[in-house]
Amino acid sequence: MLPDNFDRDLFTSELRAKHSRILPPEVEFSVGDGWLPIIADSLSEAEAALEKSGWISKAEVRQIKEKFAGLRLYVRPKRTSSHFPMALAAELLAIRDRAESLSMRACELCGEPGELRSSGYHQTLCDKHAGDRA
Ligand SMILES: [Zn+2]
Repeated sequence: MLPDNFDRDLFTSELRAKHSRILPPEVEFSVGDGWLPIIADSLSEAEAALEKSGWISKAEVRQIKEKFAGLRLYVRPKRTSSHFPMALAAELLAIRDRAESLSMRACELCGEPGELRSSGYHQTLCDKHAGDRA
């Protein structure tokens, strides 16, 4: 899935430039390369949803991380006391759920088809990378 010459730094810096309106510089991409394309799609979807609903300047990505072998991408209102309207909240939740379910089928390291592996700790990996870890 990822090209052989995949350049993580280039890919993530392009993502940051493209989504600077909602992606604060301090938010890290705390996952393996294999999930970065899923993150790219999710950021585009989230940004479109926020733009459409007039929340683009009032919301931001709070965290991008792995949890229970799945990708989590959290978008929150900048002002912690405010809440997304219900329709927007539902849309953002659907985007997050879709990213999570895609990540549960993609190797976190390379993006090839993967599944949950648990040898000591849980991670979603392809056959090759599961073999490397064993
Ligand atoms: Zn892999």
